[in-house]
Amino acid sequence: MTANTSHTIPSYLNPAQLGPWGDYLQQVDRVTPYLGSLSRWVETLKRPKRALIVDVPIELDNGTMAHFEGYRVQHNTSRGPGKGGVRFHSEVTLSEVMALSAWMSVKNAAVNLPYGGAKGGIRVDPQTLSRGELERLTRRYTSEIGVIIGPTKDIPAPDVNTNEQIMAWMMDTYSMNEGATSTGVITGKPIALGGSLGRREATGRGVFTVGCEAAKRMALPIEGVRIAVQGFGNVGGVAAQLFVKAGGRLVAVQDHAASLYKDAGIDASALWEHVQLHGSIKGYADAESVTADAFWDTPCDVMIPAALEQQITSANAHRIQARLVIEGANGPTTPEADDILRERNILVVPDVIANAGGVTVSYFEWVQDFSSFFWSEDDINARLVRLMTEAFDAVWQMAQEHKVSLRTATFIIACKRILHARELRGLYP
Ligand code: NAD
Repeated sequence: MTANTSHTIPSYLNPAQLGPWGDYLQQVDRVTPYLGSLSRWVETLKRPKRALIVDVPIELDNGTMAHFEGYRVQHNTSRGPGKGGVRFHSEVTLSEVMALSAWMSVKNAAVNLPYGGAKGGIRVDPQTLSRGELERLTRRYTSEIGVIIGPTKDIPAPDVNTNEQIMAWMMDTYSMNEGATSTGVITGKPIALGGSLGRREATGRGVFTVGCEAAKRMALPIEGVRIAVQGFGNVGGVAAQLFVKAGGRLVAVQDHAASLYKDAGIDASALWEHVQLHGSIKGYADAESVTADAFWDTPCDVMIPAALEQQITSANAHRIQARLVIEGANGPTTPEADDILRERNILVVPDVIANAGGVTVSYFEWVQDFSSFFWSEDDINARLVRLMTEAFDAVWQMAQEHKVSLRTATFIIACKRILHARELRGLYP
């Protein structure tokens, strides 16, 4: 009888279509040699603790019934409750949500938040739904995943195509099912419902903070630095505005509908206003419209992918002109592309540290909700910057010590913390 009963790929995933989960598994393989005796626990990281798939039926405005597929995956809870966003997107898959939940485990451990990792999603294009349909969808999904979430079990938050209003509906649905208002079950809520000041801008602010730290170490001045941003939403839009405020020049922006270029610098605040009105950068007049493909050749110093996974691949990594890539999105760079960028001496600040600002202020929100005592925005921003700067410094030192990429360095710090907790706890979780 063979003793090896471990299967890395769960039977519910098609091994030929692993998507971002395959990228994540490769990242874990890369870090394993650095884990010492903790590597005996590494298989824990290669499968989610729990993956829930739910049917979300709703009545549409025209009286017909529609069924949507929803997910909530808890990757790891060794260091605390699951924590991670909820994504509404027509391409959401189980393997994507699994990867996103695993990156949350790594991210939360990298900044030393007392959380495990989780993520959720619904396979839907929310732009095709009315407000009433969106509310019914959100509430039914929340009820369905209500069996595994909770303020001390798993705390959802916003992600792509979800916002404060959706978080308010989620909090309300969970609370009313429980019979008492429970603000701590969701973060990213409106301020009027126990949300935190600074949460909306927190991920972009974190991207800016670690981006400046990396630039400082590369002797790259922010004044006049040319920035190209993919994704001009909550993360990319805020980060771009902060870089421009600090003296940077926004030369290129791409979103789902258009790509813009202007060497003299795009007015980031005016573009932001345009997006709030029209839902996209498309139609913004004060920049040249270019093809989506041309975006990757943009002459720039810093590139910020802040849209979706697997955007920088072996097909375009050799074309990127930037010296610094700051990953605002989760999983935007494939492992093959990572190698190409490293060979080309382009520094990559990985998602698991670069976009940790959002969950950090979500943690502050959760703490404030429990104590029902709310902090000032200055206090929150100062704590965020301090935590992110310290975490980045530790990652930088780890990378120097082992001569590894910042991604592997972040994974070394985070995976050691997760597996150490796992070892100390023993049998569970
Ligand atoms: P968002 O919905 O506010 O914005 C997404 C942006 O990406 C939009 O500008 C959209 O047009 C663009 N986009 C979508 N598909 C695209 C495509 N195919 N090509 C180019 N652009 C495309 O979402 P967000 O909250 O800014 O999230 C963006 C990324 O950041 C995601 O990977 C998300 O997981 C990650 N992230 C978000 C947070 C947060 O707090 N919101 C925290 C950490 C990480």
